Amino acid sequence: MATAIWVLNDQLHQAQAALASHGPGEARIVVVEAEAVLRQRPHLQKQILFWSAQRHFAAELKQAGWQVDQLEAATHAEALIPWLKQHAISRLLVMAPPDRPIRQAIDRLAQHSDWPCELEWIDNNQFLWTAEEFSRWAGSKKQLRMEFFYREGRKRFNVLMDGDQPQGGQWNFDQDNRKPPKKGLEGPAPLWFEPDAITKAVIEKLQSLAERYELSGDSEPFLWGVTQHQAQQVLEHFIATRLAGFGPYQDAMVSGQPTLWHSLISPYINLGLLQPLAVIRQLEQAGRAQQVPLASLEGVIRQLLGWREFTHGLYHHFGEDYSHSNALDAVVPLPEFLHQLGGSGMGCVDTVLSELNERGYAHHIQRLMVLTNLGLMAGWNPQAFTSWFQAQFVDAHHWVMQTNVLGMGLWADAGRLGSKPYAASGRYINKMSTYCKGCRFDQTKRSGPDACPFNVLYWDFMARHQERFRSHPRMALMIRQLDRIDASELEAIRSTARGLEWAQPPAA
Ligand SMILES: Cc1cc2nc3c(=O)[nH]c(=O)nc-3n(C[C@H](O)[C@H](O)[C@H](O)COP(=O)(O)OP(=O)(O)OC[C@H]3O[C@@H](n4cnc5c(N)ncnc54)[C@H](O)[C@@H]3O)c2cc1C
Ligand code: SF4
Repeated sequence: MATAIWVLNDQLHQAQAALASHGPGEARIVVVEAEAVLRQRPHLQKQILFWSAQRHFAAELKQAGWQVDQLEAATHAEALIPWLKQHAISRLLVMAPPDRPIRQAIDRLAQHSDWPCELEWIDNNQFLWTAEEFSRWAGSKKQLRMEFFYREGRKRFNVLMDGDQPQGGQWNFDQDNRKPPKKGLEGPAPLWFEPDAITKAVIEKLQSLAERYELSGDSEPFLWGVTQHQAQQVLEHFIATRLAGFGPYQDAMVSGQPTLWHSLISPYINLGLLQPLAVIRQLEQAGRAQQVPLASLEGVIRQLLGWREFTHGLYHHFGEDYSHSNALDAVVPLPEFLHQLGGSGMGCVDTVLSELNERGYAHHIQRLMVLTNLGLMAGWNPQAFTSWFQAQFVDAHHWVMQTNVLGMGLWADAGRLGSKPYAASGRYINKMSTYCKGCRFDQTKRSGPDACPFNVLYWDFMARHQERFRSHPRMALMIRQLDRIDASELEAIRSTARGLEWAQPPAA
């Protein structure tokens, strides 16, 4: 009876549960590059990262003594079925992926009339909380708050604790972490890598397929790390150069500075090249040794031990229906400038899209307060927008998109994530970024041809949804402000909104 292990491309770690269940002599390994994934039109930087990291991992496994086959084909079925038959595999082990559609696609594949073997799922060990543990924590709580989940995680994994109390006497230092950018603010340069021969071959392959599949974004320069060693170097470089400054400018946005003090570890941790608990322990240890301000250290640990695990837990806890949420009945199609990654005419949007085009990355506040903020207020369809996010970002996976885009960004889940709608006018962007200087729109205006579209849509959004939000505890204040706008001015605002063709529903 021959056993094989299929390593999926977000499981690139030798201690992942399927690999840990066997030794090199006991099972054959297979990895697959199927062109079919390109039908989702991923950003070139994302696909280069995924395939190159997978090829590098396959090489590492070979070095560690495993027998590894790397298959390339049009579809997974075309790659795997002949291979399984050729090697008389009777049992194929796969570590369960966190993404539901991927698991469903593999289950469907195993129903194929030619499928020759037994498919065996192994529980995923790449998150700190399993889906069952999360659901036990969630229990019958009325509202699931990230803050309380995070505190539970701090205690459970003994992170930044003094006995049973949080270090520094408080759990949360967010108030210290909201500084607008001061003039000339520059973050330390991040660590990038020149592509090696393996990566260059992947770049060439994808460049040759880019036109056929209409792949988006720039393929070069490609500077992401593609191995565990490089991912570890990125983490260490972050600790050495940016950890101490992580907190204060976490929410700042500066033209020409796409990364500031952000860690850039999400693509690696999501692919399995870094392990979350090891990262958290290393951050805590280094933070103590380097006497990093607690607000910064706690700030980054909150993202990993709190937000990352919370979004994963909720993804499984909410289940499949969550993906179809559309509480605000948002039906506006995505504008062409999103597909083109530029050309909106808005300084903030075009800056973020051009950085995204170059590297497949934008930091949290650019994603939340520029991209989804605009989509929320313009009424872009949440499912289409989520698919767009999943294609465009190097760190995007189904499990992390759902709550972040549908829930936090677009309020399509009617607040199940526990947040208010993150709608903000141009005033917020002007305060927290350098984007408004030089923009052709006027950040102080809310109607007329040169009015900032964020202002226009902000009031239009409040007017459209005033009945729903009038009694919402965190929105009522905004609705009262809306009530104070006189009728003729509100009509001028709403007429300007109607002129934004990319914010209009299709004609019935
Ligand atoms: C609309 C929207 C879309 C997003 N899409 C993704 C995505 O596709 N993939 C992804 O990993 N994160 C996503 N996030 C969360 C967050 O923006 C990114 O994790 C972060 O920007 C990655 O950059 P970084 O590694 O430099 O993060 P840092 O700012 O340095 O944060 C450290 C780490 O914390 C984790 N983290 C922080 N916030 C979150 C969060 N809300 N959810 C999950 N993990 C978090 C990430 O692993 C990140 O690497 C999204 C957030 C929003 C609002
Ligand atoms: S004026 Fe408005 S559109 Fe222009 S950069 Fe500022 S917020 Fe963006």
